[in-house]
Amino acid sequence: MRCALCRFLALVLLAPAALSAQRPSTAADVKRILYPLADDSMKGRMTGSSGEAMASRFIAGEMQRIGLKPLGDSGYFQRVPIVVVPLATPRRGRTERVMLVGSFAERDTFPVERRRTSVNVLGFLAGTDSTLKNEVVLVDAHFDHVGVGSSVNGDSIYNGADDDASGVTAVLEIARQFAEGSTPRRTVLFVTTTGEEAGLLGTRWFIDHPPIPLSQFVANMEIEMIGRPDPLAGGAGKAWLTGYERSSMGERFAAAGLDIVSDKRPDQRFFERSDNIAFARRGIVAHTLSTYNLHTDYHQPGDEAAKVDLEHMATVINTGARAVRLLADGPKLEWKPGGQPGAPAPRPTPPPAPRLLSTPTH
Ligand SMILES: [Zn+2]
Repeated sequence: MRCALCRFLALVLLAPAALSAQRPSTAADVKRILYPLADDSMKGRMTGSSGEAMASRFIAGEMQRIGLKPLGDSGYFQRVPIVVVPLATPRRGRTERVMLVGSFAERDTFPVERRRTSVNVLGFLAGTDSTLKNEVVLVDAHFDHVGVGSSVNGDSIYNGADDDASGVTAVLEIARQFAEGSTPRRTVLFVTTTGEEAGLLGTRWFIDHPPIPLSQFVANMEIEMIGRPDPLAGGAGKAWLTGYERSSMGERFAAAGLDIVSDKRPDQRFFERSDNIAFARRGIVAHTLSTYNLHTDYHQPGDEAAKVDLEHMATVINTGARAVRLLADGPKLEWKPGGQPGAPAPRPTPPPAPRLLSTPTH
């Protein structure tokens, strides 16, 4: 620009576009969220633990900073009733496990020292289209992990950097990009769930107590373990989708040129091994985006933040944001013939409360 007037006009004309621009995620963005979540101070984010509670507060703070609207029963938190049950045989240094119960009243029939409150963390951006805003796209990841257990090479904290602090980071960064960019046509709900490792506890509670009727959910993209590149998906910056062939989601992404391929390890049954399966069994087109390369740090103390490829993750997150944009603004997805999994299997019921052994409650 040669003259002051030209510079002024350029500023006036370009400023609105610049203000509404959607800034892509960088390695620094990833590190800022992932490192605290996978820090030793979070103690492996075991469901119902103080470390997991700390993580939930961190996530809610991020949702507030981004400008998501809260959708829990307590601000961003949807409280989930949990009980701790002793294990007959200790496993990997753990002597107890957590279970979901049917209500807070039922939880309170258990001895007080066995009661826990965990939370899902929920925030949303309302859609702008007068009709499509009543349809919901769910973007989620689980923020719990397996806590503290047997020591391996002197380390007993199972940090869960890849599993699934990486997915939570993606959910928050995609939410930030959407909040900064143009408003979606459909409503986009961003959720981080508890208790996935213990049997999809948070998702099961969410499905039984949805803040928006499940009949309004049209698509779910979950994000699991995107911290390390997978050579079978094409290496750094490339991702794969579980159950790719089951619905039109994968081909929609392919048509848009996104670096998302099919799951190259169908024998691992990843489609059925994370929160998405619970939504898929309810008829919602639900898949998981991942780059898990079967690394040996899976569910080990070695799943550390320092082993995460931040640049790879940032690229996958930016691809994920474009994918969610297609879900939020594009034509509705559908299952392929035979692609939708069957109805939910019967749930195991928790053992009866050991009343005779209970200590007085207060
Ligand atoms: Zn996981």
